[in-house]
Amino acid sequence: SPEPLWIFGDQLGRHVHASADHADREVVLIESRSAFARKGGHRQKAHLLLSGMRHLADELGDRVQYWQADGYRDALTTLGRPVVVHEPSSRAASRFVHRLADEGLVAEVLPNPSFALSRSDFATWAGDADSFRLEAFYREQRRRFSVLMDGREPSGGKWNFDHENRDPPPKRSTLGIEHPWWPTEDEIDAQVRADLDAMDAMFVGEDGPRLFAVTHDEARSALRTFIDHRLATFGRWEDAIMSDDWTMSHSLLSVPLNLSLLHPLEVVHAAEEAVRANRVGIAAAEGFIRQILGWREFVWHLYWHFGADYTAQNELGAHAPLPDWFRDLDAEAVTARCLSETLAGVRDRGWVHHIPRLMVLGSHALQRGYDPAALTEWFRASFVDGFDWVMPVNVIGMSQHADGGLMATKPYTSGGAYISTMSDLCRDCEYDPKKRVGDDACPFTAGYWWFTHRHQDMLGSNHRTARAVSSMRRLTDLEALVEQEEHREAF
Ligand code: SF4
Repeated sequence: SPEPLWIFGDQLGRHVHASADHADREVVLIESRSAFARKGGHRQKAHLLLSGMRHLADELGDRVQYWQADGYRDALTTLGRPVVVHEPSSRAASRFVHRLADEGLVAEVLPNPSFALSRSDFATWAGDADSFRLEAFYREQRRRFSVLMDGREPSGGKWNFDHENRDPPPKRSTLGIEHPWWPTEDEIDAQVRADLDAMDAMFVGEDGPRLFAVTHDEARSALRTFIDHRLATFGRWEDAIMSDDWTMSHSLLSVPLNLSLLHPLEVVHAAEEAVRANRVGIAAAEGFIRQILGWREFVWHLYWHFGADYTAQNELGAHAPLPDWFRDLDAEAVTARCLSETLAGVRDRGWVHHIPRLMVLGSHALQRGYDPAALTEWFRASFVDGFDWVMPVNVIGMSQHADGGLMATKPYTSGGAYISTMSDLCRDCEYDPKKRVGDDACPFTAGYWWFTHRHQDMLGSNHRTARAVSSMRRLTDLEALVEQEEHREAF
Protein backbone atom coordinates (compact mmCIF):
# COMPACT_ATOMS: atom_id res chain seq x y z
CA SER A 1 0.00 0.00 0.00
CA PRO A 2 1.18 3.59 -0.61
CA GLU A 3 2.93 5.56 2.13
CA PRO A 4 0.56 7.16 4.65
CA LEU A 5 -0.17 10.89 4.35
CA TRP A 6 0.90 12.90 7.39
CA ILE A 7 -1.34 15.98 7.74
CA PHE A 8 -0.51 19.03 9.84
CA GLY A 9 -3.22 20.87 11.78
CA ASP A 10 -3.33 23.63 9.17
CA GLN A 11 -3.80 21.24 6.22
CA LEU A 12 -7.21 19.82 7.05
CA GLY A 13 -9.17 20.23 3.79
CA ARG A 14 -10.57 17.72 1.34
CA HIS A 15 -8.37 19.17 -1.41
CA VAL A 16 -5.54 17.65 0.68
CA HIS A 17 -6.69 14.28 2.02
CA ALA A 18 -9.27 13.46 -0.68
CA SER A 19 -7.15 14.47 -3.66
CA ALA A 20 -6.61 11.81 -6.33
CA ASP A 21 -2.96 11.39 -5.25
CA HIS A 22 -3.92 10.61 -1.67
CA ALA A 23 -7.29 8.86 -1.88
CA ASP A 24 -5.79 5.41 -1.14
CA ARG A 25 -3.47 6.50 1.64
CA GLU A 26 -3.89 6.10 5.33
CA VAL A 27 -3.89 9.46 7.11
CA VAL A 28 -1.60 10.23 10.05
CA LEU A 29 -2.53 13.05 12.42
CA ILE A 30 -0.23 13.89 15.32
CA GLU A 31 -0.96 16.08 18.34
CA SER A 32 2.51 17.01 19.51
CA ARG A 33 2.64 18.05 23.15
CA SER A 34 6.02 19.73 22.67
CA ALA A 35 4.79 21.74 19.66
CA PHE A 36 1.81 22.96 21.69
CA ALA A 37 3.94 23.87 24.67
CA ARG A 38 6.46 25.68 22.46
CA LYS A 39 3.92 27.69 20.48
CA GLY A 40 1.60 28.72 23.31
CA GLY A 41 -0.55 31.45 21.81
CA HIS A 42 -4.22 32.22 22.21
CA ARG A 43 -6.21 29.62 24.07
CA GLN A 44 -8.93 29.70 21.40
CA LYS A 45 -6.39 29.08 18.62
CA ALA A 46 -5.23 25.94 20.42
CA HIS A 47 -8.87 24.90 20.65
CA LEU A 48 -9.50 25.48 16.94
CA LEU A 49 -6.44 23.47 15.93
CA LEU A 50 -7.20 20.50 18.16
CA SER A 51 -10.89 20.59 17.38
CA GLY A 52 -10.12 20.68 13.63
CA MET A 53 -7.72 17.72 13.82
CA ARG A 54 -10.04 15.63 15.96
CA HIS A 55 -13.07 16.39 13.83
CA LEU A 56 -11.12 15.29 10.75
CA ALA A 57 -10.11 12.07 12.49
CA ASP A 58 -13.75 11.49 13.36
CA GLU A 59 -14.81 12.12 9.77
CA LEU A 60 -12.17 9.82 8.23
CA GLY A 61 -12.71 7.02 10.75
CA ASP A 62 -10.64 3.88 10.07
CA ARG A 63 -8.48 5.65 7.54
CA VAL A 64 -6.75 7.63 10.30
CA GLN A 65 -3.97 6.83 12.70
CA TYR A 66 -4.24 9.49 15.40
CA TRP A 67 -1.29 10.06 17.72
CA GLN A 68 -1.01 12.03 20.90
CA ALA A 69 2.75 12.09 21.38
CA ASP A 70 5.51 14.09 23.01
CA GLY A 71 6.74 15.12 19.58
CA TYR A 72 6.25 14.45 15.88
CA ARG A 73 9.46 12.43 15.59
CA ASP A 74 8.37 10.08 18.40
CA ALA A 75 5.09 9.37 16.66
CA LEU A 76 6.63 8.81 13.24
CA THR A 77 9.32 6.54 14.69
CA THR A 78 6.68 4.43 16.41
CA LEU A 79 4.61 4.37 13.22
CA GLY A 80 7.60 2.64 11.59
CA ARG A 81 6.77 3.56 7.97
CA PRO A 82 7.88 6.58 5.98
CA VAL A 83 5.10 9.07 5.27
CA VAL A 84 4.44 11.66 2.60
CA VAL A 85 3.66 15.17 3.76
CA HIS A 86 2.83 18.56 2.29
CA GLU A 87 5.31 21.36 2.90
CA PRO A 88 4.40 22.93 6.24
CA SER A 89 3.67 26.62 6.60
CA SER A 90 6.70 27.83 8.57
CA ARG A 91 10.43 27.86 8.02
CA ALA A 92 11.09 26.00 11.27
CA ALA A 93 8.60 23.23 10.47
CA SER A 94 9.88 23.03 6.91
CA ARG A 95 13.47 22.53 8.09
CA PHE A 96 12.25 19.89 10.53
CA VAL A 97 10.33 17.98 7.87
CA HIS A 98 13.33 17.99 5.53
CA ARG A 99 15.50 16.66 8.39
CA LEU A 100 12.96 13.87 8.86
CA ALA A 101 13.29 13.15 5.14
CA ASP A 102 17.07 12.84 5.56
CA GLU A 103 16.43 10.42 8.42
CA GLY A 104 14.09 8.31 6.29
CA LEU A 105 10.95 9.06 8.31
CA VAL A 106 9.50 11.17 5.49
CA ALA A 107 9.47 9.71 1.97
CA GLU A 108 8.39 12.80 0.07
CA VAL A 109 7.63 16.49 0.72
CA LEU A 110 4.91 17.78 -1.60
CA PRO A 111 4.05 21.47 -2.20
CA ASN A 112 2.01 23.36 0.40
CA PRO A 113 -1.68 22.96 -0.46
CA SER A 114 -3.16 26.16 0.97
CA PHE A 115 -2.52 28.78 -1.70
CA ALA A 116 -3.44 29.45 -5.31
CA LEU A 117 0.02 30.42 -6.55
CA SER A 118 2.87 27.95 -6.18
CA ARG A 119 6.16 29.04 -4.70
CA SER A 120 8.00 28.31 -7.92
CA ASP A 121 5.56 30.46 -9.94
CA PHE A 122 6.00 33.26 -7.44
CA ALA A 123 9.78 32.97 -7.73
CA THR A 124 9.51 33.26 -11.52
CA TRP A 125 7.25 36.32 -11.19
CA ALA A 126 9.44 37.97 -8.55
CA GLY A 127 12.71 37.48 -10.45
CA ASP A 128 15.47 39.37 -8.69
CA ALA A 129 13.28 42.27 -7.53
CA ASP A 130 13.81 43.26 -3.92
CA SER A 131 10.79 45.48 -3.38
CA PHE A 132 7.19 44.62 -4.13
CA ARG A 133 3.81 46.31 -4.43
CA LEU A 134 0.53 44.53 -3.82
CA GLU A 135 -1.17 46.13 -6.81
CA ALA A 136 1.19 44.58 -9.39
CA PHE A 137 1.03 41.18 -7.72
CA TYR A 138 -2.75 41.32 -7.40
CA ARG A 139 -3.31 42.20 -11.06
CA GLU A 140 -1.06 39.34 -12.09
CA GLN A 141 -3.07 37.00 -9.83
CA ARG A 142 -6.35 38.17 -11.38
CA ARG A 143 -4.98 37.53 -14.87
CA ARG A 144 -3.28 34.25 -14.04
CA PHE A 145 -6.33 32.71 -12.35
CA SER A 146 -8.82 34.53 -14.56
CA VAL A 147 -10.77 36.03 -11.68
CA LEU A 148 -13.09 39.00 -12.33
CA MET A 149 -11.71 39.29 -15.86
CA ASP A 150 -13.46 40.01 -19.13
CA GLY A 151 -10.85 38.74 -21.54
CA ARG A 152 -7.68 40.74 -20.85
CA GLU A 153 -9.60 43.52 -19.10
CA PRO A 154 -10.70 43.65 -15.48
CA SER A 155 -14.45 43.26 -15.03
CA GLY A 156 -16.18 46.55 -14.43
CA GLY A 157 -13.38 48.38 -16.26
CA LYS A 158 -10.96 48.76 -13.37
CA TRP A 159 -8.79 46.73 -11.07
CA ASN A 160 -9.48 48.57 -7.87
CA PHE A 161 -12.69 49.83 -6.28
CA ASP A 162 -11.03 51.09 -3.10
CA HIS A 163 -12.48 54.58 -3.35
CA GLU A 164 -16.00 53.08 -3.12
CA ASN A 165 -14.92 50.97 -0.15
CA ARG A 166 -14.06 53.57 2.45
CA ASP A 167 -17.32 54.65 4.01
CA PRO A 168 -17.44 55.62 7.68
CA PRO A 169 -19.81 53.49 9.77
CA PRO A 170 -23.53 54.21 9.44
CA LYS A 171 -25.14 56.15 12.27
CA ARG A 172 -26.64 53.16 14.07
CA SER A 173 -25.16 50.76 16.56
CA THR A 174 -24.79 47.73 14.25
CA LEU A 175 -24.87 47.16 10.50
CA GLY A 176 -28.08 45.22 11.05
CA ILE A 177 -27.27 42.57 8.44
CA GLU A 178 -27.67 38.80 8.77
CA HIS A 179 -25.30 37.49 11.42
CA PRO A 180 -22.36 35.28 10.43
CA TRP A 181 -22.60 31.50 10.49
CA TRP A 182 -21.81 30.29 14.02
CA PRO A 183 -20.69 26.79 14.93
CA THR A 184 -22.49 24.55 17.40
CA GLU A 185 -20.03 22.93 19.74
CA ASP A 186 -20.18 19.17 20.15
CA GLU A 187 -18.62 16.50 22.38
CA ILE A 188 -15.31 16.79 20.52
CA ASP A 189 -15.13 20.46 21.54
CA ALA A 190 -16.01 19.54 25.11
CA GLN A 191 -13.12 17.05 25.21
CA VAL A 192 -10.74 19.58 23.65
CA ARG A 193 -11.72 22.11 26.30
CA ALA A 194 -11.12 19.61 29.10
CA ASP A 195 -7.75 18.59 27.62
CA LEU A 196 -6.63 22.19 27.26
CA ASP A 197 -7.67 22.92 30.84
CA ALA A 198 -5.40 20.09 31.92
CA MET A 199 -2.52 21.01 29.63
CA ASP A 200 0.57 22.61 31.04
CA ALA A 201 0.97 25.23 28.30
CA MET A 202 1.17 28.99 28.51
CA PHE A 203 -1.87 30.26 26.63
CA VAL A 204 -2.92 33.87 26.26
CA GLY A 205 -6.45 35.24 26.13
CA GLU A 206 -9.70 33.86 27.46
CA ASP A 207 -11.40 30.63 26.62
CA GLY A 208 -14.80 31.11 25.02
CA PRO A 209 -17.33 29.45 22.76
CA ARG A 210 -15.84 28.32 19.45
CA LEU A 211 -16.51 31.00 16.84
CA PHE A 212 -14.88 29.65 13.69
CA ALA A 213 -15.40 26.75 11.31
CA VAL A 214 -13.12 23.72 11.80
CA THR A 215 -14.62 21.09 9.48
CA HIS A 216 -15.24 20.80 5.77
CA ASP A 217 -18.99 21.15 6.17
CA GLU A 218 -18.77 23.99 8.67
CA ALA A 219 -16.40 25.92 6.43
CA ARG A 220 -18.80 25.61 3.51
CA SER A 221 -21.70 26.80 5.65
CA ALA A 222 -19.66 29.78 6.79
CA LEU A 223 -18.67 30.61 3.21
CA ARG A 224 -22.26 30.26 1.94
CA THR A 225 -23.69 32.50 4.67
CA PHE A 226 -21.07 35.12 3.94
CA ILE A 227 -21.55 35.12 0.17
CA ASP A 228 -25.35 35.01 0.29
CA HIS A 229 -26.01 37.47 3.11
CA ARG A 230 -22.97 39.52 4.02
CA LEU A 231 -20.64 40.07 1.07
CA ALA A 232 -22.86 42.74 -0.48
CA THR A 233 -22.09 45.15 2.36
CA PHE A 234 -18.46 44.07 2.82
CA GLY A 235 -16.73 46.57 0.56
CA ARG A 236 -18.51 49.72 1.59
CA TRP A 237 -17.75 49.35 5.30
CA GLU A 238 -14.61 47.21 5.25
CA ASP A 239 -12.52 49.99 6.78
CA ALA A 240 -15.01 51.05 9.47
CA ILE A 241 -15.15 50.03 13.13
CA MET A 242 -18.38 49.74 15.16
CA SER A 243 -18.00 49.09 18.84
CA ASP A 244 -21.24 47.07 19.12
CA ASP A 245 -20.67 45.05 15.96
CA TRP A 246 -17.32 43.31 15.96
CA THR A 247 -17.99 41.19 12.88
CA MET A 248 -19.64 43.89 10.75
CA SER A 249 -19.53 42.45 7.20
CA HIS A 250 -16.31 40.52 7.64
CA SER A 251 -16.26 36.92 6.46
CA LEU A 252 -14.56 35.27 9.48
CA LEU A 253 -13.02 32.92 6.93
CA SER A 254 -9.37 33.56 7.82
CA VAL A 255 -9.40 30.60 10.24
CA PRO A 256 -10.88 28.02 7.85
CA LEU A 257 -8.63 29.39 5.09
CA ASN A 258 -5.52 29.16 7.27
CA LEU A 259 -6.48 25.66 8.40
CA SER A 260 -6.77 24.89 4.67
CA LEU A 261 -10.38 23.82 5.08
CA LEU A 262 -11.21 26.20 2.24
CA HIS A 263 -9.00 26.66 -0.78
CA PRO A 264 -8.57 30.33 -1.69
CA LEU A 265 -9.73 29.78 -5.28
CA GLU A 266 -12.94 28.19 -4.04
CA VAL A 267 -13.59 31.30 -1.96
CA VAL A 268 -12.84 33.83 -4.70
CA HIS A 269 -14.84 31.84 -7.26
CA ALA A 270 -17.86 31.91 -4.94
CA ALA A 271 -17.54 35.69 -4.62
CA GLU A 272 -17.09 36.10 -8.36
CA GLU A 273 -20.10 33.94 -9.10
CA ALA A 274 -22.24 36.18 -6.88
CA VAL A 275 -21.16 39.18 -8.99
CA ARG A 276 -21.86 37.40 -12.28
CA ALA A 277 -25.34 36.45 -11.00
CA ASN A 278 -25.95 40.10 -10.04
CA ARG A 279 -26.36 39.18 -6.40
CA VAL A 280 -23.61 41.50 -5.14
CA GLY A 281 -21.98 44.60 -6.59
CA ILE A 282 -18.53 44.37 -8.07
CA ALA A 283 -16.98 46.87 -5.62
CA ALA A 284 -17.90 44.68 -2.64
CA ALA A 285 -16.64 41.48 -4.23
CA GLU A 286 -13.47 43.09 -5.59
CA GLY A 287 -12.51 44.37 -2.14
CA PHE A 288 -12.95 40.88 -0.73
CA ILE A 289 -11.17 39.10 -3.59
CA ARG A 290 -8.25 41.52 -3.23
CA GLN A 291 -7.82 40.36 0.37
CA ILE A 292 -7.81 36.65 -0.49
CA LEU A 293 -6.23 36.39 -3.92
CA GLY A 294 -4.09 39.50 -3.44
CA TRP A 295 -3.04 40.24 0.10
CA ARG A 296 -3.14 36.76 1.67
CA GLU A 297 -1.10 35.22 -1.14
CA PHE A 298 1.28 38.21 -1.24
CA VAL A 299 1.99 37.88 2.49
CA TRP A 300 2.59 34.12 2.18
CA HIS A 301 5.04 34.38 -0.68
CA LEU A 302 6.93 37.32 0.77
CA TYR A 303 7.31 35.41 4.06
CA TRP A 304 9.48 32.91 2.16
CA HIS A 305 11.00 35.38 -0.25
CA PHE A 306 12.24 37.85 2.37
CA GLY A 307 13.77 35.06 4.45
CA ALA A 308 14.51 34.48 8.11
CA ASP A 309 16.27 37.81 8.74
CA TYR A 310 13.27 39.86 7.71
CA THR A 311 11.74 39.93 11.19
CA ALA A 312 14.96 41.39 12.60
CA GLN A 313 14.68 44.47 10.38
CA ASN A 314 14.21 47.63 12.37
CA GLU A 315 14.69 50.50 9.97
CA LEU A 316 13.06 53.05 12.32
CA GLY A 317 15.20 52.01 15.30
CA ALA A 318 12.18 51.10 17.45
CA HIS A 319 13.33 49.45 20.67
CA ALA A 320 10.62 50.09 23.29
CA PRO A 321 9.45 46.85 24.94
CA LEU A 322 5.75 46.01 24.72
CA PRO A 323 4.15 47.38 27.90
CA ASP A 324 2.75 44.73 30.26
CA TRP A 325 -0.86 45.85 29.70
CA PHE A 326 -0.43 45.48 25.94
CA ARG A 327 1.35 42.14 26.11
CA ASP A 328 -1.13 40.73 28.64
CA LEU A 329 -4.26 42.04 26.85
CA ASP A 330 -5.20 43.99 29.97
CA ALA A 331 -7.99 46.06 28.43
CA GLU A 332 -9.07 47.42 31.83
CA ALA A 333 -5.71 49.10 32.34
CA VAL A 334 -6.31 51.39 29.35
CA THR A 335 -8.39 54.58 29.17
CA ALA A 336 -8.24 55.09 25.41
CA ARG A 337 -11.46 53.47 24.27
CA CYS A 338 -10.19 52.35 20.88
CA LEU A 339 -7.21 50.57 22.43
CA SER A 340 -9.20 49.14 25.32
CA GLU A 341 -11.98 47.71 23.15
CA THR A 342 -9.53 46.30 20.64
CA LEU A 343 -7.46 44.60 23.33
CA ALA A 344 -10.64 43.20 24.87
CA GLY A 345 -11.61 41.76 21.48
CA VAL A 346 -8.22 40.07 21.15
CA ARG A 347 -8.43 38.77 24.71
CA ASP A 348 -11.99 37.43 24.39
CA ARG A 349 -11.97 36.13 20.81
CA GLY A 350 -8.42 36.19 19.46
CA TRP A 351 -9.81 38.12 16.54
CA VAL A 352 -10.54 41.72 15.54
CA HIS A 353 -10.81 42.76 11.91
CA HIS A 354 -8.03 44.29 9.86
CA ILE A 355 -8.65 47.95 10.69
CA PRO A 356 -8.36 47.66 14.50
CA ARG A 357 -5.27 45.54 13.86
CA LEU A 358 -3.68 48.12 11.57
CA MET A 359 -5.06 51.48 12.63
CA VAL A 360 -5.39 50.92 16.37
CA LEU A 361 -2.88 48.27 17.55
CA GLY A 362 -0.32 48.67 14.77
CA SER A 363 -0.57 52.45 14.62
CA HIS A 364 -0.22 52.73 18.40
CA ALA A 365 2.87 50.48 18.37
CA LEU A 366 4.43 52.48 15.54
CA GLN A 367 3.81 55.79 17.28
CA ARG A 368 5.30 54.50 20.52
CA GLY A 369 8.27 52.78 18.89
CA TYR A 370 7.59 49.23 20.13
CA ASP A 371 10.15 46.67 19.07
CA PRO A 372 8.87 45.30 15.75
CA ALA A 373 10.11 41.72 16.24
CA ALA A 374 8.44 41.50 19.66
CA LEU A 375 5.28 42.97 18.15
CA THR A 376 5.31 40.43 15.31
CA GLU A 377 5.53 37.57 17.80
CA TRP A 378 2.75 39.15 19.88
CA PHE A 379 0.44 39.30 16.86
CA ARG A 380 1.27 35.70 15.94
CA ALA A 381 0.53 34.47 19.43
CA SER A 382 -2.53 36.59 20.19
CA PHE A 383 -4.66 36.01 17.09
CA VAL A 384 -6.55 32.84 16.22
CA ASP A 385 -5.56 33.25 12.57
CA GLY A 386 -1.94 34.13 13.39
CA PHE A 387 0.49 31.51 12.11
CA ASP A 388 4.23 31.98 11.60
CA TRP A 389 3.86 32.98 7.96
CA VAL A 390 1.02 35.48 8.54
CA MET A 391 2.50 38.21 10.67
CA PRO A 392 6.04 39.15 9.48
CA VAL A 393 4.95 40.93 6.30
CA ASN A 394 1.80 42.32 7.93
CA VAL A 395 3.67 43.72 10.92
CA ILE A 396 7.28 44.36 9.87
CA GLY A 397 6.30 45.51 6.39
CA MET A 398 2.80 46.93 6.29
CA SER A 399 2.22 48.09 9.83
CA GLN A 400 5.60 49.10 11.29
CA HIS A 401 7.55 50.09 8.16
CA ALA A 402 10.47 48.32 9.81
CA ASP A 403 11.72 47.05 6.43
CA GLY A 404 12.15 50.61 5.18
CA GLY A 405 9.48 50.22 2.50
CA LEU A 406 10.12 46.88 0.77
CA MET A 407 6.39 46.37 0.29
CA ALA A 408 4.55 49.48 1.51
CA THR A 409 5.10 53.02 0.26
CA LYS A 410 4.71 54.70 3.65
CA PRO A 411 4.17 54.03 7.35
CA TYR A 412 0.50 53.54 8.25
CA THR A 413 -0.51 55.70 11.17
CA SER A 414 -3.01 58.44 11.86
CA GLY A 415 -4.24 60.83 14.48
CA GLY A 416 -7.50 60.47 16.36
CA ALA A 417 -9.34 62.30 13.57
CA TYR A 418 -9.15 59.21 11.35
CA ILE A 419 -10.36 56.90 14.12
CA SER A 420 -13.07 59.42 14.95
CA THR A 421 -14.32 59.45 11.35
CA MET A 422 -14.02 55.72 10.74
CA SER A 423 -15.45 54.46 14.05
CA ASP A 424 -18.01 55.25 16.73
CA LEU A 425 -15.40 54.85 19.48
CA CYS A 426 -14.37 58.43 20.21
CA ARG A 427 -17.67 59.80 21.41
CA ASP A 428 -17.56 57.81 24.66
CA CYS A 429 -13.83 58.17 25.18
CA GLU A 430 -12.30 60.25 27.95
CA TYR A 431 -9.83 61.64 25.45
CA ASP A 432 -10.70 64.18 22.79
CA PRO A 433 -9.54 63.30 19.27
CA LYS A 434 -9.17 67.01 18.48
CA LYS A 435 -6.79 67.66 21.38
CA ARG A 436 -3.08 67.07 21.09
CA VAL A 437 -1.92 68.72 24.34
CA GLY A 438 -3.43 68.53 27.83
CA ASP A 439 -4.96 65.94 30.12
CA ASP A 440 -7.58 64.93 27.58
CA ALA A 441 -5.19 64.93 24.62
CA CYS A 442 -5.93 61.90 22.43
CA PRO A 443 -2.90 59.59 22.52
CA PHE A 444 -3.31 58.90 18.79
CA THR A 445 -3.46 62.58 17.82
CA ALA A 446 -0.51 63.48 20.03
CA GLY A 447 1.22 60.22 19.10
CA TYR A 448 0.90 60.97 15.41
CA TRP A 449 2.74 64.28 15.75
CA TRP A 450 5.30 62.82 18.12
CA PHE A 451 6.02 60.04 15.60
CA THR A 452 6.23 62.62 12.80
CA HIS A 453 8.63 64.66 14.92
CA ARG A 454 10.91 61.70 15.68
CA HIS A 455 11.06 60.58 12.06
CA GLN A 456 10.85 63.91 10.27
CA ASP A 457 13.92 63.27 8.09
CA MET A 458 12.61 59.99 6.72
CA LEU A 459 9.00 61.23 6.38
CA GLY A 460 10.09 64.56 4.85
CA SER A 461 11.96 62.80 2.05
CA ASN A 462 8.97 60.63 1.03
CA HIS A 463 6.55 62.51 -1.23
CA ARG A 464 3.62 60.61 0.30
CA THR A 465 4.41 61.87 3.82
CA ALA A 466 6.31 65.13 3.31
CA ARG A 467 3.16 67.18 3.91
CA ALA A 468 2.79 65.80 7.43
CA VAL A 469 6.24 67.12 8.27
CA SER A 470 5.47 70.62 6.98
CA SER A 471 2.19 70.64 8.93
CA MET A 472 4.03 69.52 12.06
CA ARG A 473 6.53 72.36 11.70
CA ARG A 474 3.66 74.83 11.79
CA LEU A 475 2.31 73.53 15.13
CA THR A 476 2.76 76.23 17.75
CA ASP A 477 2.56 73.80 20.65
CA LEU A 478 4.98 71.23 19.26
CA GLU A 479 7.50 71.63 22.05
CA ALA A 480 4.88 71.07 24.75
CA LEU A 481 3.51 68.11 22.81
CA VAL A 482 6.89 66.42 22.52
CA GLU A 483 7.58 66.98 26.20
CA GLN A 484 4.16 65.54 27.09
CA GLU A 485 4.54 62.44 24.93
CA GLU A 486 8.07 61.72 26.07
CA HIS A 487 6.71 61.44 29.59
CA ARG A 488 3.37 59.79 28.87
CA GLU A 489 2.96 56.71 31.01
CA ALA A 490 -0.68 55.81 30.58
CA PHE A 491 -2.99 55.56 27.59
FE1 SF4 B 1 -9.00 56.46 20.56
FE2 SF4 B 1 -8.41 59.06 20.75
FE3 SF4 B 1 -10.80 58.29 19.85
FE4 SF4 B 1 -10.19 57.97 22.41
S1 SF4 B 1 -10.39 59.92 21.34
S2 SF4 B 1 -11.19 56.46 21.07
S3 SF4 B 1 -8.00 57.50 22.27
S4 SF4 B 1 -8.83 57.92 18.87
